[in-house]
Amino acid sequence: MTVQLGLPVLRKEVPRTSLLQAPPQRPAGQPSGLFDRFGRRATDMRLSVTDKCNLRCTYCMPAEGLEWLPQPAVITAAEIVRIVGIGVGHLGVRELRLTGGEPLVRGDLVEIVRALRGRHPDLPISMTTNAVGLDRKAQALKDAGLTRINVSLDSLHEETFAKITRRPYLNRVLAGVQAASAAGLGPVKINAVLMRGINDGEAAGLLAWALGSGHELRFIEQMPLDADHGWSRREMITAAEIRELLATEFVLSRDPGERDGAPAERFRVQRRNPLTEGTAGPVLGTVGIIASVTEPFCSDCRRTRITAEGTIMSCLFSRQEFDLLGLLRAGASDDELARRWEDAMWAKPKAHGREQTGLDADDFVQPDRTMSAIGG
Ligand code: SAM
Ligand code: SF4
Repeated sequence: MTVQLGLPVLRKEVPRTSLLQAPPQRPAGQPSGLFDRFGRRATDMRLSVTDKCNLRCTYCMPAEGLEWLPQPAVITAAEIVRIVGIGVGHLGVRELRLTGGEPLVRGDLVEIVRALRGRHPDLPISMTTNAVGLDRKAQALKDAGLTRINVSLDSLHEETFAKITRRPYLNRVLAGVQAASAAGLGPVKINAVLMRGINDGEAAGLLAWALGSGHELRFIEQMPLDADHGWSRREMITAAEIRELLATEFVLSRDPGERDGAPAERFRVQRRNPLTEGTAGPVLGTVGIIASVTEPFCSDCRRTRITAEGTIMSCLFSRQEFDLLGLLRAGASDDELARRWEDAMWAKPKAHGREQTGLDADDFVQPDRTMSAIGG
């Protein structure tokens, strides 16, 4: 098996054309909180703790990596704690997800979680990770106060895994998933992106594995957030196709529970009886499908994002972001920082970074940043 490791970091990230230092002020008289012009309120915070990563997933990073942020530009542990404190204490944030880049490459991750937990005893704090090295850190993260974990895993076959991530680390990821379950960070949510001709044949196999291991699988439609701009609407595997692929072995029925702003549509899963084509046996668990491209859920979006360099992004696809960390480092008060965050979220676009309905819209333009540089 040959694995393309890529050259050392060579590629510069495309310059962001519309980074603004300060957003326009929102109109006076609005209630306190991260509201936008369309009546949505962000309560779910995604915070990227680093832009670095030890994998090179083809749908996210180029083979040679990106030019990492210089260390002084990256948000520090103390700054993370202060910003989360403002989100929770002033603005109604009710849930926090740590992400990246790869959060596990950050040396002070456990200390960050411990400090956040010390200040917010009841805040759900989860983390999205590729799980490389998680086997050594899962228990410490649990003890520090992490609530739950999401692991990205697109294939259970070594060669396919290495082809997608450009690294031969499948066994390390599987060890990480197991350690997270053993440490009590479960149920582990597994995120999988399917790509045509690469791992789409594994849809049902991934689900069987997740159900058998007590994990919750969620398929994510591939979005145009790759550095190589290789995404194609025609080539991507849609949510409808994912349901068809799963139907070869399973019967899915919509979970009647409240979706409550969750991006994934959840289905109950039963085995398909190949003789009768009906269901066989009990409900084995659930599977989620996140149809960001074909069935966007922008009208119910509750996300606010802080990048590893401390800018506010109201949407993954936004081409505008606003500096929060610079203001903090210039000595701003908590109130001033909260106002900046509110103004930035007020400017949140209606859908997928644009004013039309989504990635299919005529005015969709792929953002300059990759998923890893935003914080997925
Ligand atoms: N490195 C961590 C990981 O992979 O879990 C956290 C950051 S990663 C950017 C967060 C999530 O974004 C992963 O589940 C990954 O599969 C997903 N992702 C990255 N690029 C994507 C794309 N172009 N379309 C859909 N999902 C993507
Ligand atoms: Fe790294 Fe996660 Fe992007 Fe893969 S998806 S390259 S693991 S940041």
